[in-house]
Amino acid sequence: MTPRPIPISDPTLGDHRRYPGCRLFLTCALCGWSKSYRPQRIIDRLHELKSGGYPTPVAQIARRVGWNCPGCGRVKWRADFAWPPNLDAREIRRLANLYRN
Ligand SMILES: [Zn+2]
Repeated sequence: MTPRPIPISDPTLGDHRRYPGCRLFLTCALCGWSKSYRPQRIIDRLHELKSGGYPTPVAQIARRVGWNCPGCGRVKWRADFAWPPNLDAREIRRLANLYRN
């Protein structure tokens, strides 16, 4: 079960609103270890720190991660929006309706 990447080039954090239910996956470029986050939580955190928000490029998030990968101990991160493997098409539609209303 792997996350399904969302095909957008150079996304910003705010783009998550166009893809209901998507998460921000932080993936180790060297060994593939990954962890996902709720995008809104990251935006809220950046607002708190006054260091970014909706217009922040997703790629920049990866560069700011300073901790070592638990899988291989190195530091080379990628950040992407993707749908979690357990989110099916019907759930995506349901969330899309929620956002519209
Ligand atoms: Zn790794």
